[in-house]
Amino acid sequence: MLRTSLALLWSCVVIAAPAPAAAVEGPMISIAIHGGAGVLSRAALTPEHEGAYRADLERALDAGYAVLAAGGSSLDAVVAAVRILEDSPLFNAGRGAVFSNAGINELDAAIMDGRTLRAGAVAAVRHVKNPIELARRVMDASPHVLLTGAGAEEFALEQSLTLVPGSYFYTERRWQQLEQARRGDRAAAADIDIGYFGTVGAVARDRDGNLAAATSTGGLTNKRWGRVGDSPIIGAGTYADNASCAVSATGSGEYFIRAVVAHEICARVRLSGVTAAAAAQAVVHGTLRKLGGDGGVIVVDRDGHLTLAFNTEGMFRGARDASGRREIAIY
Ligand code: ASP
Repeated sequence: MLRTSLALLWSCVVIAAPAPAAAVEGPMISIAIHGGAGVLSRAALTPEHEGAYRADLERALDAGYAVLAAGGSSLDAVVAAVRILEDSPLFNAGRGAVFSNAGINELDAAIMDGRTLRAGAVAAVRHVKNPIELARRVMDASPHVLLTGAGAEEFALEQSLTLVPGSYFYTERRWQQLEQARRGDRAAAADIDIGYFGTVGAVARDRDGNLAAATSTGGLTNKRWGRVGDSPIIGAGTYADNASCAVSATGSGEYFIRAVVAHEICARVRLSGVTAAAAAQAVVHGTLRKLGGDGGVIVVDRDGHLTLAFNTEGMFRGARDASGRREIAIY
């Protein structure tokens, strides 16, 4: 019963209600996370599976929220949340990432600071345990925004980040998914995956009103030729601007790049004054859908209100804010 009402609540576009003034001290701190959207077959998701997903989503949500509650920055909060999801083998990021056609895990990640519009991103890294930490270093400690492949890993070494052998990212489930995909059986692959996507992300607002967004992914199963998706492309899968909102996306990256989804949502809020909920809804169900793109976004607006929109069957997600809201949902 509780599950049903939570699911219903989360099927609404706006997931945060206005907080009762008495319950909130100071500006609203809030965080939303996602663990991918897609074909979430209820039959494939056993109660044990569901419990495992929920537990890891909760850990990530609470870790991010704890940073905000202690007065930490939204940047630190989104990194804390995404790191946990990267370390979980259940999601398509870090350990448990999907395999490319060559049987390799190539990881993409990005982070953006809504206060300064600084951003950092990495693409096609193969040995960095937590790509989101490398993206953060690109933003904080390099003059660049996006580093790729071997050069990005050389920078990771210089920054003393943890590097791991490629085998660290291996999971049997993802390998089977690759074999299915190589045979052209996308439906079966999705069933193994319990959802074809599985990218992770977080958006947050801190006490100072600063917004941040972070996204991390293994990309698409069976990807080829050095393919890079939307997640590390600033404006496509990740964007943050204190003047409007912060967005992290998951879905068929090629379409998110073409529709510049994350920036498009923020631009609509900033330029036309629509709510983040309305903008997310219009872009995900309108622009993106018309192109043929599947997936969803989580969004936090300037006031800390959390919003999501997805045009798939489900999306692994969680939200927590200063009004006492703390929710995890899948469908
Ligand atoms: N958006 C990611 C990509 O295309 C995939 C995902 O969301 O799982 O690389």
